[in-house]
Amino acid sequence: MTVLVLGDGLTHERGPVARRPDEPVLLLEAESFARKLPYHPHKLVLVFSAMRQFRDDLREQGRTVHYQQAESFEEGLARHFAAHPGDELVAMRPASANAADRLDDLITAHGGSIEFVENETFLCSPDEFDQWAGERDGYRHEEFYRFMRRKTGYLMDGDEPVGGEWNYDDQNRETPGEDVDPPDPPAYRPDETTARVIEWVTETFEGSYDGPPYGGDWADPEPFRWPVTREDALDALESFCEDRLPKFGPYQDAMVDDEWGMYHALLSPAINLGLLHPAEVVERVIEAGEREDVPLNSVEGFVRQVIGWREFVRHVYRREMPELAGANQLDADEDLPPAYWTGETDMRCLDDTVGSVRERGYAHHIQRLMVLSNFGLLYGVEPTQLNRWFHAGFVDAFHWVTTPNVVEMGLFGSGVFATKPYASSANYINRMSDYCGNCPYYHTRTTGEGACPFNALYWDFLDRNEDDLRSNHRMGLVYSHLDNKDEEELATIRERATKVKELAASGKL
Ligand code: FAD
Repeated sequence: MTVLVLGDGLTHERGPVARRPDEPVLLLEAESFARKLPYHPHKLVLVFSAMRQFRDDLREQGRTVHYQQAESFEEGLARHFAAHPGDELVAMRPASANAADRLDDLITAHGGSIEFVENETFLCSPDEFDQWAGERDGYRHEEFYRFMRRKTGYLMDGDEPVGGEWNYDDQNRETPGEDVDPPDPPAYRPDETTARVIEWVTETFEGSYDGPPYGGDWADPEPFRWPVTREDALDALESFCEDRLPKFGPYQDAMVDDEWGMYHALLSPAINLGLLHPAEVVERVIEAGEREDVPLNSVEGFVRQVIGWREFVRHVYRREMPELAGANQLDADEDLPPAYWTGETDMRCLDDTVGSVRERGYAHHIQRLMVLSNFGLLYGVEPTQLNRWFHAGFVDAFHWVTTPNVVEMGLFGSGVFATKPYASSANYINRMSDYCGNCPYYHTRTTGEGACPFNALYWDFLDRNEDDLRSNHRMGLVYSHLDNKDEEELATIRERATKVKELAASGKL
């Protein structure tokens, strides 16, 4: 019997590693996995270094670890079963669709067997979610979130929510002002293990993370900053609670030029790898709220993201795959503009956001939603193309979490949980950021040279998707604004939208 640990289940505290302390552990490091997409080198360093650090930690604790470095998963398994014929493996059930079936097939083909047990890196089990979802028509996040508050007891005062409200989102939309001055996020210096991985990634994958077909590398593998050990991940949690959490709530939706982290936690890579458990993260944040005078809107806003959204998208994904990955209810069919890969554009918001992704594999939530996805939505990018780009470029990307966020939340691909598209003109970006003041495009203009591309694309989006969207009761107001435009104005808007698309497609926006 051997415990198989996958690259996103690196926890000592939970699952079969914790429950079977006397069994050996198997980790498989497959190079071919890293070649499936033009991955950002920081993603590759993150995953491979975290796996090797996990191996070393276990060995230091006296555990036997079989660590297979191989060209493919199959080759790694073949080697393992050659050394341990007929071995019986046990692993947490992977969150990504089909992964368990594929593993099962490979392992059986090599004469072994595998038992999948519950994935303990989440807070809500499949059974609990399925019972909650029951016969409900569609999935509503707010209802699920309340269910999770009651289930976990987090921020509950008996049967009532602490503070009297379930959700303080209306206090979490401050526009960025003079008092926005986020501290520098912590950067974790690569130790010897990480340095070796950086060297290996540079030698092995150089060029593979170019943005095909346009060229233009993501970043260099260095400087690499993300936590890859449990110790550094815990430090990152402390740093968030001490330095950024108090203003996380109010400025959750704000964007400031050149402030890539704002007051966000920057914990998704560590949580998604298993280095931090969502329960300990949430409990530390609640404790900060109780002891360290952190406002309730910051604490609640954060807790909602982790026990609400994160668990919610995981289970919607589980239930709605494989359709979700290919969903495209608006029939969007444009190619992703080259600026996503090259970062070359005069649009300040897109430039800064893509720049952050290129440099470190990260952009914060509102940049992902209201800049990267919003532009893709209005432009009509085919959802699978944007999804692929997000997967390749982000350090925290895993199929179970990226796909529902990009295809559904960002691009309104299926309507399975989004009740309307997150579409907005330059107005939103101007209100919630300082980008427009630094941009050569005019956020106040819709047509004509120099008009912000978001504006014409926004009206053109509403116009061309009218058959699908007008009947949506949450879109009534915006369609009443569209109705105020006469045919002549609409024709000029369409013309400008076409021009914007030509410029974007030729990399000249
Ligand atoms: P914070 O803003 O500080 O939030 C705290 C935590 O809440 C995050 O660490 C994360 O664990 C959780 N969280 C918040 N929102 C979500 C959400 N919508 N879905 C899942 N977890 C959430 N998250 C990923 O982990 N991987 C992805 O590949 C990913 N792709 C995204 C793509 C798009 C288009 C959008 C709109 C969102 C995406 N998200 C993804 C969700 C969210 O943007 C990131 O989790 C968050 O930005 C990570 O940074 P942070 O740790 O600083 O988060």
